[in-house]
Amino acid sequence: MKTFDEMIDGYGRFRETDWQHQRERWEELREGQSPQVMVISCSDSRVDPAQIFDVAPGELFVVRNVAALVPPFETTPGRHGVSAALEFAVQFLKVKEVVVMGHGMCGGCQAALTQDLHGNDLGAGGFVAHWIDMLDETREPIAEKFGTAGREAERAMELAAVKVSLANLRTFPCVQEKEASGELKLRGAYFAISDGVLHLLDEESGEFRPA
Ligand SMILES: [Zn+2]
Repeated sequence: MKTFDEMIDGYGRFRETDWQHQRERWEELREGQSPQVMVISCSDSRVDPAQIFDVAPGELFVVRNVAALVPPFETTPGRHGVSAALEFAVQFLKVKEVVVMGHGMCGGCQAALTQDLHGNDLGAGGFVAHWIDMLDETREPIAEKFGTAGREAERAMELAAVKVSLANLRTFPCVQEKEASGELKLRGAYFAISDGVLHLLDEESGEFRPA
């Protein structure tokens, strides 16, 4: 794996090739962005939405965090990073779709399943534990059915987490309004790292199917 200094070489290649090729597009983007799609993805280094969807600069508005989670609409004090990004995308950029993309081998979902970090101090796993405890309720039936270890249990947790985020998205008044009026569509997706296959959630059946 490369160091950041080594990545500067990559930047050099980008300036020579991609940036030159898309110069006009960059000129256009100088005036502003108008992406139609927002993606909420995991911070995991293996699931870069721009790479998976092969999109040009300016096309995707992205939030990445541990386990690709959206917390519910909360008015408690604190810094609500996901809520701020969502509000900006939906109310100001007026994106037409919000996609929650979970993924295989997700460390955050695994921690939600095992609850190994519960009780850790903030800064020593406590921030992660508190973040992923929004999956606690969903975890219970999964842990009962599949246990807390192994791919079957983990995959069930990873897929369920996407549904939790979609449900939490629907607690935001602006999302409720725009979904009801047809201005906004919510989508669930899952990228399986092992075979590189993207799955899309059919919310009617609750099943994820290969795209
Ligand atoms: Zn992850």
